[in-house]
Amino acid sequence: MLEIKALGHTYADGHRALTGIDLGLERGELVCLVGPSGCGKSTLLRCIAGLQRPTEGTVLLEGQAVERVPDGLAVVFQDYTRSLFPWLSVRDNVALVLRRRGLARAARRAAAEEALEAVGLAAAARKYPWQLSGGMQQRAAIARALAYRPQLLLMDEPFGSVDAQTREDLEDLLLSVRGDHGMTILLVTHDIDESVYVGDRVVVLTGAPGSVHTDLPVRLPSP
Ligand code: ADP
Ligand code: ADP
Repeated sequence: MLEIKALGHTYADGHRALTGIDLGLERGELVCLVGPSGCGKSTLLRCIAGLQRPTEGTVLLEGQAVERVPDGLAVVFQDYTRSLFPWLSVRDNVALVLRRRGLARAARRAAAEEALEAVGLAAAARKYPWQLSGGMQQRAAIARALAYRPQLLLMDEPFGSVDAQTREDLEDLLLSVRGDHGMTILLVTHDIDESVYVGDRVVVLTGAPGSVHTDLPVRLPSP
């Protein structure tokens, strides 16, 4: 569903962040992208999301070149402080994006409450972002992305701000929703353990030119 070919990116200041990246994602897969800080993970994610135009190569989503942020896409960024609208309740933050799905108001609110419940935030639905801890704001951002039911969910180190137990719960949540409605997930992490636990595949980005390589499938067979 996603095909990246010979992707490269050089920033305006001449800094070369990515060279010769080839990567494909199948529908319904959960792929983890790992690599050291500064190797270009966020740059790659922004190029896939249409937030940044790569200086070389192509990104095809369902065969179409990505030139702006595609409709079926949701992104969860590492920085939760800028992801929620401060003037909307947590529930309305989640419900708002569902307008693009053409849902009526009551249906949007119901879907928002369901998604908030899935991330353990049912009790915070009527609060405002500034009344929540950082980890709770990040969970709200994750609930919003999941409620949208994107074809492709991009997550850039999404669990950095949550405690260990919540992180495990959210990892299990991702495993349970992956593949639902054909959802494909690309998760950037620097945590190898996490990538092996949640990933159908782990892709390693080392920062050297053309260095993307795909590891063996790591998922154990279902019992
Ligand atoms: P990662 O997410 O793996 O930590 P990034 O994609 O954020 O890596 O960055 C890759 C490289 O590109 C780093 O060396 C970073 O300093 C540089 N970089 C990132 N954004 C910019 C920018 N806007 N302008 C110039 N260089 C940048
Ligand atoms: P992360 O560790 O999450 O990848 P960074 O700390 O590398 O993020 O970068 C934070 C922000 O600063 C990003 O938006 C990135 O694009 C920008 N940035 C990083 N390196 C540079 C750089 N050398 N020049 C300009 N902007 C940069």
